[in-house]
Amino acid sequence: MGRIAPLPKALLIEGATIYDPATGKTRRGDLAVKNGRLIEPEKLGAAKVERLDARGALVTHGFIDIHAHFREPGREDQESLESGSRAALAGGFTRVAVMPNTLPAIDSPEMVRSLLEKAERLPIVLYVIGAISRGREGLELAELLEMQAAGALAFSDDGNPIADGQVLRRALQYTKDVGTPIINHAEDLPLRDGGVMNQSALSTRLGLPGNPVEAEAAMVHRDLLIAQETGGRLHVPHVSTALTVDLVRRFKEAGVPITAEATPHHLGLTEEALRQFDTNAKVAPPLRTEADRQAVVRGLMDGAIDCIATDHAPHTVEEKEQDMIQAPFGMIGLESAFGLANTVLGPAGLAIEKLIDLLTVGPARALGLELTPLEPGSPAELVVLRPDETWTFTEKDIHSRSRNTPMLGMTFNGRVVATISRGSWYTCT
Ligand SMILES: [Zn+2]
Repeated sequence: MGRIAPLPKALLIEGATIYDPATGKTRRGDLAVKNGRLIEPEKLGAAKVERLDARGALVTHGFIDIHAHFREPGREDQESLESGSRAALAGGFTRVAVMPNTLPAIDSPEMVRSLLEKAERLPIVLYVIGAISRGREGLELAELLEMQAAGALAFSDDGNPIADGQVLRRALQYTKDVGTPIINHAEDLPLRDGGVMNQSALSTRLGLPGNPVEAEAAMVHRDLLIAQETGGRLHVPHVSTALTVDLVRRFKEAGVPITAEATPHHLGLTEEALRQFDTNAKVAPPLRTEADRQAVVRGLMDGAIDCIATDHAPHTVEEKEQDMIQAPFGMIGLESAFGLANTVLGPAGLAIEKLIDLLTVGPARALGLELTPLEPGSPAELVVLRPDETWTFTEKDIHSRSRNTPMLGMTFNGRVVATISRGSWYTCT
């Protein structure tokens, strides 16, 4: 069980390998933190310095998750801003963008402002994604530019697809000049036809309604065509199929200004996780076949997909104890993200620095954020990793208010041992 405590006034991180994704440079040495900022180690002074032995560890910029569900307001029994922030720190994340499918939905400038105000006291930086449509109903556009002025960094009805192509088109047109990305949860619901898992021989054998790959790929294709036509900024979330990876790659090669993300669970798990009817493995879009999984991995390796995002989606035990048809879609993912991604991408041949880029530079680019370099004067926003440590993910590693993950009991290679952010630090013990 890790712990989260106030950051010591003076901290020396000793003997680390330091990778700075803002500059792409790696060096060996110490990092000193005083009053929440990086300073020259010589200027730390001798009195009362806390030391962190980082020999053999890799220190880098804190991770950025551009797709999480913190459930506040409305469902704080699943997750709150505070519990979600603790889960983030335990996963090495220092900045998180939250989706607006709360109760009520974040679909007005007032709601964006109120969430950002509440976020002031959190130990992470919180970004707000506003709804594309009023009430996330997909019919009438919300006040996009007003929400953008209030601080919304992107727009999405996540969980609900924008079924009406004209609504998506107008959203892309309105936001084109400000450059705020539109993120559409791409699933054609009539094509999904009540599917609760990937449509395949396995879904037939299990007797469960299947969700075909075309439900995702057809809508992504529509979205890409509309992005090309309007010149608006489209970000494709949680790519799950080989078809989608190819489409995104093709439109990127044609110069369409799009970005895309993949989740750790689509990188590391397949539909096989549902064989025992584990509702914790029920997600939207669903876990797919091994061929799809490999295509998503390739997409991250060759740059077709820009970044990793968790789609951390907490649900209560009671909700997930329903049957496969009734249980809600989603799994938590912040605490296991680095371990799972590194376990999959390391052996696939991705250098650890590239993986860090997919968790820092990539998401920053997708949402138009600045990364601060790891230099004296910058705020201390760090994660300390042990890329070679093998560990088993258990309930003790979960800081979220929810427990819905099929990864409990899995062994990962690569662990977050400390996270430093906004006057707090998490240490894994
Ligand atoms: Zn989604």
